[in-house]
Amino acid sequence: METSILVIYTGGTAGMAYNKRGELVPMNFEQIRRKMPELRQLNMAVEVVNLGEPIDSSNVMPADWLRMAALIAEKYDQYDGFVVLHGTDTMAYSAAALSFLLENLGKTVVFTGAQVPVGGIRTDARRNLVTALEMAAARHPVGNTVRVPEVCLFFNDLLIRGNRAKKVESQQYDAFRSENYPPLARAGIELAFHDKQIRLLPASKLHVHQRFDERVALIRLFPGLSERVLRAQLELDDLRGCVLETYGSGNAPTAPWFLNCLREASDRGVVLLNVSQCEEGRVLQGRYETSAYLSDLGIVGGDDITVEAAITKLMFVLGLALESTQSRRLMAQDLRGEITLL
Ligand code: ASP
Repeated sequence: METSILVIYTGGTAGMAYNKRGELVPMNFEQIRRKMPELRQLNMAVEVVNLGEPIDSSNVMPADWLRMAALIAEKYDQYDGFVVLHGTDTMAYSAAALSFLLENLGKTVVFTGAQVPVGGIRTDARRNLVTALEMAAARHPVGNTVRVPEVCLFFNDLLIRGNRAKKVESQQYDAFRSENYPPLARAGIELAFHDKQIRLLPASKLHVHQRFDERVALIRLFPGLSERVLRAQLELDDLRGCVLETYGSGNAPTAPWFLNCLREASDRGVVLLNVSQCEEGRVLQGRYETSAYLSDLGIVGGDDITVEAAITKLMFVLGLALESTQSRRLMAQDLRGEITLL
């Protein structure tokens, strides 16, 4: 039987065109299809569904992630794989979010998009979408099982794990990188899959989660961050979690006011996750004196997680509505390949 792939169209530059004021605005998928005759040449059935009105991904919200996951759940048995056509700006957040929502995923979900709209002569939309479709349809030559049963992101020539991706470029074609985990596949003349990097789980039923808790904050430290500004965020009445972007291998100031702010938040049950501002490397709480005290305050070390995966994981874990000690324990665990534990 012919392979069938569902494209979930959300918007983004790939499907945009210029309006009268010279600004890029999203088009509908039928306009895209007309510009991509190669879609008909693929050896697979490609169907398209709009998530809603196409949007610039700067407008994506957690409610959109829940709708994407619900749509995949609804269509899961009807299709062999899924491609999410999405703007690049928040694609890494969406891919990470979906990886947490789709537990025990047994099919491929590939996010892709483009830097240049599909109508542009030097567009990357056609190549990215065609290759993403091939990746979503890929099966093992031996055994015919799904090659990449993960939420991943294809861009330029790399297939990377969704919750390891980061947008690193707004001008060049190689917009995404995965600094702390090797790519799952590379598209050259042939598609080369790196099977050892792909996460294979024993087959079990897909479980689709349906909640994020948005009562979270993301605070990036900088020399000069004042007590007033830190308190204004950490003392928000309903704050339940916060990702702290610290320096280097997870270091932070040791000034008493800083420690007190964190201690008070932690004692109120706020789940704090320590993530590094460095794009490569990992948080090692205790390596320096300037991080040793953080574990004592109940702050979870984020290991080698990206900020995008950290904030979505926090919203996901808090959405499970557990006691804060249990939430902290889950935050320290590798749930979907988003961290490498030492
Ligand atoms: N602003 C666009 C978006 O994220 C950028 C892109 O798609 O490349 O929707």
